[in-house]
Amino acid sequence: MDAERRVMDRVVAEAVDFLGGLDERPVCAAHDVDQVAEALGGPLPETGEDPVAVLDALVAGAGPGVVATPSGRFFGWVIGGVLPAALGADWLTSLWDQNAGLLASSPAAAGAERVAAGWLLDLLGLPADAGVGFVTGAMMANFTCLAAARHAVYRRIGWDVEADGLTGAPSLTVVVGEERHDTVDVALRYLGLGPARSVVVPADGQGRLRLDALAAALEARAPGPLVVCLQAGNVNSGAFDPLGPAVDLVHAHGGWAHVDGAFGLWAAAAPGLRHLTAGHERADSWATDAHKTLNVPYDSGLAVVADAAALHAAMGVHAAYLIQDERPDPIASVPEFSRRARGFTVWAALRSLGRTGVAELVQGFVDRAHRFAAALDALDGVAVVNDVDFTQVCLAFDGDVETRESHAGCWPRGRPG
Ligand SMILES: *Cc1c(COP(=O)(O)O)cnc(C)c1O
Repeated sequence: MDAERRVMDRVVAEAVDFLGGLDERPVCAAHDVDQVAEALGGPLPETGEDPVAVLDALVAGAGPGVVATPSGRFFGWVIGGVLPAALGADWLTSLWDQNAGLLASSPAAAGAERVAAGWLLDLLGLPADAGVGFVTGAMMANFTCLAAARHAVYRRIGWDVEADGLTGAPSLTVVVGEERHDTVDVALRYLGLGPARSVVVPADGQGRLRLDALAAALEARAPGPLVVCLQAGNVNSGAFDPLGPAVDLVHAHGGWAHVDGAFGLWAAAAPGLRHLTAGHERADSWATDAHKTLNVPYDSGLAVVADAAALHAAMGVHAAYLIQDERPDPIASVPEFSRRARGFTVWAALRSLGRTGVAELVQGFVDRAHRFAAALDALDGVAVVNDVDFTQVCLAFDGDVETRESHAGCWPRGRPG
């Protein structure tokens, strides 16, 4: 126990330092990747070292390369912070080191996922009997949901895609919005559904898929299985596709409607924002993240599929040594086999906030985005270029030089825009 005790003390000391300094430390990293690699590097040591000395070296070498994304002053991309209860649960997840794949390998992990999934479906207004997979992030949630979609639309025409794959299969039409997130294309690529073959529906000026264009695309498509990818929350503008009417159109054509709601699906949890996702519950699958809007530590995405059997058919694994009964194991809802117990953090975040707390969290982001937009718009040489519907504020400066300079402090090589 001595080594473990000293390790825990060292980590607690670092946590107190890090969390206590978050409000003041520069948001940008002090060291770049080469400096961090140099500080951590050198040849692989021949012999081992005391664990606390190892942690000291990690803090000294990697610490200056840490970007203060969990602070309240980081506004790039769509990056979540960490709720205290979720942080504690994340540490317990590592402490217990459960393999969440099977009911038999961890009743604790499976039980927490069952309860967290139920709370999540309730909170997001989704069907109570939907299947939920705890995956790494929304990209894998898109993949998981679209695998269930691929299964279901092929099953309807008598093709077993899990067994026989796509070679020789009747072709499947995938329809996507012009402004879909890039990870939808990656998910399609992983599924052998070549994204270059997708039918692309034009978007309006805010990046919302246009309903009239969707209707025309569905009329004009080739007959056969159909999957349509919609979006709740455009990563640049925050705009939401007209979900309810779009889902109804897809269903009228016999298709499967998937919603990528990585950060935006959480609008459904805030009474003042529910109009943004209206009708989303009629879709067939939904991808979202807990590590963005819900502020759970990273490695937390959620794949929700209304037809749980389709999810299990697409993801399930059976093997004699696994000790399985008739209930679906957690491995039947995710692409992984052995994996981290991701339910503890989601359960803890939801329990620490409660229904009202989640609503206030999400509404608070949107209120602050409006304050940001108003204050920035009032500055000379800065214009807000999107309708601030959700948490995104999109800015244009007077010229490209000014735009580049606006983030030069953090990215000296002028990288992300
Ligand atoms: C972030 C994001 C994703 C990808 O999610 P990860 O959690 O990074 O895998 C997919 N879609 C949208 C709209 C996103 O914002």
